Amino acid sequence: MRTLCLDVGGTKVAAAVHDETLGPVTRRATAGDPWASVTDLLDPLAAGGIDQLGVACGGPMEWPAGVVAPLNIPAWVGGFPLRDRLAEKYGVPVRLHNDAVCVAAAEHAFGGWGVEDLLGMVVSTGVGGGLVLGGRLVDGGTGNAGHVGHVVVDPNGPVCPCGGRGCLEGIARGPAIVDWARSRGSKATDGVDLGRLAAQGDSVALQAFARAGNALGIGIASAIHLLDVQVVAIGGGISQVPSLWPTLRRTLAEHARLSYAREVRVEPAHLGQEAGLLGAAALFDDRYWSA
Ligand SMILES: [Zn+2]
Repeated sequence: MRTLCLDVGGTKVAAAVHDETLGPVTRRATAGDPWASVTDLLDPLAAGGIDQLGVACGGPMEWPAGVVAPLNIPAWVGGFPLRDRLAEKYGVPVRLHNDAVCVAAAEHAFGGWGVEDLLGMVVSTGVGGGLVLGGRLVDGGTGNAGHVGHVVVDPNGPVCPCGGRGCLEGIARGPAIVDWARSRGSKATDGVDLGRLAAQGDSVALQAFARAGNALGIGIASAIHLLDVQVVAIGGGISQVPSLWPTLRRTLAEHARLSYAREVRVEPAHLGQEAGLLGAAALFDDRYWSA
């Protein structure tokens, strides 16, 4: 089966054809009309003949209807029927899920972990997650199971974009880490820049990532007690900053005390930038699709 895979992120879209393996990936900025960006990218790939179309997209969204309203795409903020529009244009079955859920499916399907219970996380502009238990993706009632970003890690913490207080995402997402550092005098422009400063030993940058690592350690400890997974695989740009990890591991060890929780492997995700596309392909494996 030739699966056309699409990954819709906040600033760019990526696409490739998956047929046993993932073919060459093409990317495009979402500047201007996002639908035009998507179809410009997909048209030449679809021309080669496709059987189905899988989509990973930033949330929030209505699942499984595939009406998306990604936070970073203003043109679609009111809700865009991406699944139906794609099905209409390309004439093939379309399955669409949250990008962090797709990363979890991809890590389970293609990551080589050798486990049946896995929490996949993405720590980047937001903090998201997806859950595989007993070898199957768990969707929950609305497709949001595994959304670890809004686990409360500090009841007195900062207000979260969701309107709550002290959520993991409100502390550990990239822009929140950068804001915290800038409020303490850092000149960092974004998460990559702050990561570079941390690598050079800048104390505010190191403190900023330690604070995020601490929040992640608390949130992950709570999650693994609840879920009894064997692996937590963490992807996304912020997860690649080395100075995040020592505090994450220390805090996790402090809070994950029951024997089954102590043995959980919490590690960087195995699949890189292509995890979203691979997860989009995996949606056509019925282990990862329940709708
Ligand atoms: Zn929240």
